[in-house]
Amino acid sequence: MAGEFDLIARHFKWPAPEGVLGVGDDCALLPVSPGHRLAVTTDLLIEGRHFLPDVDPEALGHKALAVNISDLAAMGARPLGCVLGISVPLADHDWLERFARGFRALADASGCPLVGGDTTRSMHGVAISVTAIGEVPLASALTRSGACGGDDIWVTGTLGAPHVALELLQGRLSASAEVLDALRPALERPDPPVSFGTALCGIAHSAIDISDGLLQDLGHILDSSACGAQLQYDALPVHPRLGLFAPEIVQHAALNGGDVYQLCFTAAPSARDSLVALAREHGVRVTRVGHIDQTRRLQVVGCPVPVGPDGMGGFDHFG
Ligand code: ADP
Ligand code: MG
Repeated sequence: MAGEFDLIARHFKWPAPEGVLGVGDDCALLPVSPGHRLAVTTDLLIEGRHFLPDVDPEALGHKALAVNISDLAAMGARPLGCVLGISVPLADHDWLERFARGFRALADASGCPLVGGDTTRSMHGVAISVTAIGEVPLASALTRSGACGGDDIWVTGTLGAPHVALELLQGRLSASAEVLDALRPALERPDPPVSFGTALCGIAHSAIDISDGLLQDLGHILDSSACGAQLQYDALPVHPRLGLFAPEIVQHAALNGGDVYQLCFTAAPSARDSLVALAREHGVRVTRVGHIDQTRRLQVVGCPVPVGPDGMGGFDHFG
């Protein structure tokens, strides 16, 4: 694309940290600690499918990286760096500058420097692909398959706000501008608990990030670990500003609402005190929401509105 190198130099060439060879060579070079494995994850965001054409580019830059950092956190991986593939119909420097600002703020805050990428011109709209790379101790990487009968189930952050914010923005629900302003950051600026995820290695037995809804994502842990679970509806950390919506809306948002980018993880009951202390140290809210059992079913106890026979129903791309 014409001006590709100018565009990269202007928006995406940031100084690499000590020990890292970043943007400007054919490959980035990243150091890996002994006894560790690389954790690699990628996400593709397409205009019209994952974001609207009029999205705030700074929020989009933040979110494009956040959804990947969230996957690293779910594996207990410490970020090493990321690469950005971006395809744009024209070089709109104002748009690119704002996109890069949002991306960079989160890259700096989470210690995940941009070390390379690819830039092309597109025929239709913007497409963004971010790959994040982290490292995780070989012996204690978090996976979906490690849940054990009797484990507590924990959730970080709060549930439901991104779903309701999207419903409001798309006109399927209505509320005051003040309520929308309070919920919108959860949708546009997800804040995955990356350092806390790293600290869960050796403590948590299994973990996943909540992208498609708590029931669906916990369901993946249950499938992989061949066990069941009981959730306590009353214990769920529903976002405090959802109180004014009807109970069925709140319940659906909490159980099935996606785009949360917080963690659901399981750990032995003996780890409760240390987990609470660890969460406080990392400034993360943690809530114990249920336990793993051997039933091979996922039950939610105490719902205000009856849950359908399948109990599931989060967002499924191919559903
Ligand atoms: P190559 O042709 O070897 O693939 P490019 O000409 O595509 O390299 O890119 C030149 C340099 O700029 C490379 O280091 C590449 O990783 C980096 N780069 C290209 N696009 C981006 C981007 N969007 N963000 C960060 N770095 C990028
Ligand atoms: Mg290229």
